Amino acid sequence: MKCSHCSKPAIIDLRYAGRCYCKDHFCRLTWRRFKKTVNDNKLFERGQKVAIAVSGGKDSAVCLYLMKDLVQPLKLELSAITVDEGIKQTEKSVLETTKKFCKEMDVEQKVVTFKKGFGKTMDEIAAKNKANAPCYYCGVLRRHLLNKTAREMGADVIATGHNLDDEAQAILMNFMRGNSLRLFRIGPKVGIKAYGKFVARVKPLRLIPERESAVFALCNEIWEYNRRDCPYVTQSFRDSLRSHLNKLEAQFPGTKIAIVNTFDEMKKGSAKDVPPPKPCPKCGELTSSNICKTCKILEAIL
Ligand code: SF4
Repeated sequence: MKCSHCSKPAIIDLRYAGRCYCKDHFCRLTWRRFKKTVNDNKLFERGQKVAIAVSGGKDSAVCLYLMKDLVQPLKLELSAITVDEGIKQTEKSVLETTKKFCKEMDVEQKVVTFKKGFGKTMDEIAAKNKANAPCYYCGVLRRHLLNKTAREMGADVIATGHNLDDEAQAILMNFMRGNSLRLFRIGPKVGIKAYGKFVARVKPLRLIPERESAVFALCNEIWEYNRRDCPYVTQSFRDSLRSHLNKLEAQFPGTKIAIVNTFDEMKKGSAKDVPPPKPCPKCGELTSSNICKTCKILEAIL
């Protein structure tokens, strides 16, 4: 199998594009997609402080690696935030991997923990609360901690490693659950500055499929395949959807990008209808409900 752009051997076949890529052309393609997402959506302004959510996985490693190339032209100041949820099976590898990687990338890292932030580890929360899958609690609490930490660090924006698969899954999940408010908040940039307490969150890898993020990370030696997955992942709705979507993509290449592109087109005419958030009466963080989701979870689990 040869690269569609030169005579070198191909390392990846992108069936949805009908093209094969050698290492060089593939890395250039990934960079172009990253750059396009950043430019088209004006994700960063010159001189901003950007906190990157570094989790120990391939996507956040790719995000930080690519973001380094924007430091000089945009005069960005990068730092990293790692949330330690307190999941025994993964925490040692997450902390070791992220610490080493941030050092290699010469980026200051701040580690925050569920235990310190909420008084309980994710393992403790999962053991005592069976009403919802562990990911339900984990996702809300992690977003809360990331936002609070980034704000305390004086960051203007948080960059996360969400890839195309994550985005397609989120769109379908909210659609299938009838959650139109959350659905229409999905996009390359959320949490606008005008709402004060929200630090804007951006997703520069939004157009890069998960498989390509992994191949890019391996090509650039910034991540090692690690089988120590979170023990709770298989309990989530998202995981079921992920495996169905992967089957669909294998049978009908281009399904994931079509979901995200169609959603973006639909959203253009509807974004104005999303009501602005207001302060939660309990913690003061912003929410679109009467009480924010973090406070509701803390009430239920503490
Ligand atoms: Fe948290 Fe679920 Fe991710 Fe595990 S798989 S780290 S419980 S969100």
